[in-house]
Amino acid sequence: MKRRKFIQSAALTGLGLTVGSALTACAEDKKTTEKAALASTNDATKPVRPLVIATWNTPLAVETAAKVMQDGGTVLDAVEQGCRVEEANEKGQSVGKGGLPDRDGNVTLDACIMNKQGDYGAVLGVQNIMHVISLARKVMEDTPHVMLVGKGAEKFAYEKGFKKENLLTEDSRKAWEEWKVKSEYKPIINIENHDTIGMLAIDKDGDISGACTTSGLAYKMAGRVGDSPIIGGGLFVDNEIGGASATGLGEEVLKTVGSFLIVELMRQGKSPQEACEEAIRRIVSKPNSDYKNFQVGYIAVNKKGETGAYSIHEHFSYNLYKEGENKNIKSDFYIKTK
Ligand code: ASP
Repeated sequence: MKRRKFIQSAALTGLGLTVGSALTACAEDKKTTEKAALASTNDATKPVRPLVIATWNTPLAVETAAKVMQDGGTVLDAVEQGCRVEEANEKGQSVGKGGLPDRDGNVTLDACIMNKQGDYGAVLGVQNIMHVISLARKVMEDTPHVMLVGKGAEKFAYEKGFKKENLLTEDSRKAWEEWKVKSEYKPIINIENHDTIGMLAIDKDGDISGACTTSGLAYKMAGRVGDSPIIGGGLFVDNEIGGASATGLGEEVLKTVGSFLIVELMRQGKSPQEACEEAIRRIVSKPNSDYKNFQVGYIAVNKKGETGAYSIHEHFSYNLYKEGENKNIKSDFYIKTK
């Protein structure tokens, strides 16, 4: 099933579940299974480096990142190269080439990257450049700034030798044409239109880097930017502590500074899993939160190589590379029987 569909069915499942003993028992069984799976991924007696974790079902991206480190590349190279895989995948309609456009038909991309020194680079609302994650890295390494937006970012890309290309594929153009018939813009309800790749990696020495790249919300208002390229929102890395990344409705992640919150909670002693759960609780427990109608998912890793993931709705998953194995794992989630 496509990632967009996952989120859509997540909403329906979340809304459709009624309290019933069979369902509750099923949810409890599942919870136990998920906790057991998590415990086995967090077995401190096993070697945990190198390690790569990324949002959604992204095996090739994660494998690529792991291979970069195995071949002697840096952890920063690993997350950059891993994210490039999804950016180049035209079938993924929420990132890179093939991403769904804004309401005016323009594909605009957002990305950010953080290295082990805590440096950060980001690009926002960039058109015509496929590998915005690499552009974000150039901002971090080759400018005195941390963010470049729109035309300025695009100009900088050409100066750095990036190729201009049309990011709107035929499939995405058709989807946009269909959307225009009604032009219904309900970002809160259209939760199927959110996903992205956030990736965190630890090298054999225990150093951490992270990256995040997306085309954002489908049919967004021109100029809309979500959490993905914003430090502390879609991504945060502190090499002393760990890292976190987000996917889902960026507005909600930003309002709670989700990835920064998770890293700070880990600093205070919470496990990555506990920290992800607390960050989701901050969203759903806000007065008037409409959380039943949108999805947010988090992943996190700490310095020891323990990982965590949590989402509001079912069907969020992540890929984890550890000890030579690359697995897609279902995340635990908040809405079980409501
Ligand atoms: N978080 C991204 C945004 O709001 C979208 C996503 O995760 O798919 O732009």
